[in-house]
Amino acid sequence: MSLVGTCDDCGVVGVPLRYKPETPVSEQPRPSVCERCRSHRESQATTFVRCEDCGDRVPESRATGMDVSPPDGYYPEFIHFCPGCAPTDDAEQTEGSA
Ligand SMILES: [Zn+2]
Ligand SMILES: [Zn+2]
Repeated sequence: MSLVGTCDDCGVVGVPLRYKPETPVSEQPRPSVCERCRSHRESQATTFVRCEDCGDRVPESRATGMDVSPPDGYYPEFIHFCPGCAPTDDAEQTEGSA
């Protein structure tokens, strides 16, 4: 299926539209960006991070980031988990008595 319309990103009119590469197609009601913007988004979307747990490389957009910066906050530090290793919220109940 090819749909011609206006690109969401650059606003060019009357171009064949493509799905956004970083969003699941099932979440997009219709293609909405032009080919140029699609490949631009794709090049930006392919930032890979390493899963702290299993070592797999996963796209940053799909990874779960965790802030592990030291208390002094001098060097902000983040670790990432793939969807399979992402810790769940209710697994950890910390008491905050500050
Ligand atoms: Zn465009
Ligand atoms: Zn993993």
